[in-house]
Amino acid sequence: MAGLDEYRRKRDPAKTPEPVPNADELPHGGNDTFVIQEHHASSLHWDVRLERDGVLVSWAVPKGLPPTTDVVRLAVHTEDHPLEYAEFSGEIPKGEYGGGSMFIWDRGRYETVKWSDREVDVVLHGHRVQGQFVFFRSGKDDKNWMMKRRHAAARPDWKTLPEQLKPMLAVPGPLPHDDDDLWAYEFKWDGVRAILRVEGGRVQAWSRLGNDITVAIPSCRALASSWVPLRLCWTVRSSRCRTAGRVSARCRTGCT
Ligand code: MN
Repeated sequence: MAGLDEYRRKRDPAKTPEPVPNADELPHGGNDTFVIQEHHASSLHWDVRLERDGVLVSWAVPKGLPPTTDVVRLAVHTEDHPLEYAEFSGEIPKGEYGGGSMFIWDRGRYETVKWSDREVDVVLHGHRVQGQFVFFRSGKDDKNWMMKRRHAAARPDWKTLPEQLKPMLAVPGPLPHDDDDLWAYEFKWDGVRAILRVEGGRVQAWSRLGNDITVAIPSCRALASSWVPLRLCWTVRSSRCRTAGRVSARCRTGCT
């Protein structure tokens, strides 16, 4: 079942720096190596690859590993990759399959708890990730799998990021005296006040009234790739939304 025909078909070794091994017999490893690559392709995703029978069985996870046990993430099953790919990071040329930058997010050993055509249950022992995860097919679809974390949140202090936050509004009153460090001040800039929600390399912008205004502030999307490690809510004030969508001022208000 495992094979690299589809992998080779999608790539031209003369045009991509990715490893494209010859069609020799597949190597035999210990079925215990995994790699997770952060891939800034046309759409950001994390490729989770598990060594199995001489290839890396692969899923593309658009939002990254689920941080808590109650989060289920889409994991798109992709073509098997060669074992050499576990060491690959680099720039895939624009226009080629998967064009964009890719770097190793984590790598290590894994144990298999269960491996079937419908369910792959593993314990990952990496530098950044430790824990048990299960991939499972949803319905008859053999491409769109789901992914869940089995035990314990990534960090004990991890809290689910709220979907929406309401910004505080200015009210008349005396200024605080002793706890000045706990307050941030902003000028009353012109423009639209928005809350940015950043998680899994995605940015959403919400208006004060709870409307999704992400498309009105295109510069937020451009910032998303540099905000990949972040997980937070910010308020921003955006001016010229209708033209350039420039973020003119910002003030951190909220949660981690
Ligand atoms: Mn990818």
